[in-house]
Parts: sequence; C-alpha cells; structure tokens
Amino acid sequence: MAILTIRIIGDPVLRTRAEEVTEFGPELAKLVADMEETMEDVEGAGLAAPQVGVSLRVFTYRIDGQAGHIVNPVLELSEDLQEDEVEGCLSIPGIGYPVPRYRWTRVTGQDKNGNPVSIEGEGMLARCFQHETDHLDGVLYIDRLEGENRKAALRAIRMADYDSIAERTAAQRAQTVGSSFGTFGTPSAGA
Ligand code: ZN
Repeated sequence: MAILTIRIIGDPVLRTRAEEVTEFGPELAKLVADMEETMEDVEGAGLAAPQVGVSLRVFTYRIDGQAGHIVNPVLELSEDLQEDEVEGCLSIPGIGYPVPRYRWTRVTGQDKNGNPVSIEGEGMLARCFQHETDHLDGVLYIDRLEGENRKAALRAIRMADYDSIAERTAAQRAQTVGSSFGTFGTPSAGA
C-alpha cells in the first residue's frame, strides 16, 4: 500500500467528471487500499479518487463509526435539507464553510469486487456521501455556497498561496495540511 499525494484546487483533475469503473481487478483493489491508507494518514472523513489524481468514480469514507468504499456511486436524496454544517476539503486546505446538503441519502453502487452495495444515512454520513459524489462530477463544496459565504470562500482561496501549499503537500504527503482544519463536526478531519 502507499500514501498518495492529495491534489489541491487548481488541479484540472478536480474539475473533470470522473469515468465509470468497468474493470474490477487488482488495480482497483490497490487504488481502494491506497486511498483508505491515505485518508487515514490525513485523518480525512472521505476521499474521492480524483483527489489523488485518478479520474475514476470511486470514493472512500470513514465517518460516524462507518467506513468503506463505493465504486460508481449513484445518490438518491431526500427532498428536505439538513441543518448546515461546516465542511472542509482536503483539496482546499485551511478553510471551511457551512454547506447546504440534503438530510438523507441512499448511495448505491459496487464494491471493489463488483458486488452491489447500498448504504443509507442521515446527518454527517449523508453529507459525506454528497461531498464525495460531487468530487466525481468535478464539483467542489465551494460551488454549493451562496451569498456572503461564497464570497468569503472565493476570497480566501484567492488569498491562499495554494501553489506553494501544493508543493509542500507533495513533499510532506499532505499530513500537516490535512490535519490543520475542521470538517464534518470533527476538528481534525477533511474530505
Ligand atoms: Zn473534498
């Protein structure tokens, strides 16, 4: 297994719609294992494959006592929203804003062996599934912000020197960057 480098905002892979997984073999199993190890290394709540530079529809999660991975996820959403909670993103280090999300979600997809998976959840788990599935469509949480929060986030991103952070991240395996901000209700997690 290996710790992978986390891609930082500005990297085109984060803005690209990831492709469906069609081959379920050792390469996919290795990707999932490496993503799980990387997510734990940076104490993340979730990690999507594009965040490690792989444009495939896969994410891993570790939140609210539940952990796993989903391949080719499809979301079913409640009509109502949950209360806004602050989210951060491993690919946008150092900032966090309250994001509107649906209250409940059911994610269906496959596991790394191609077996069907279906998980439903509310609260932070539902939030995580929405955040990670967005990544697979090239969407970042800042795109979901409105009004003053959106302005503040875009300003913070402009002010941040993400190019130098990206270099440092590559050098330090994202460790310090990933643990320096809060999201999903825990002070040390990102997604
Ligand atoms: Zn993220």
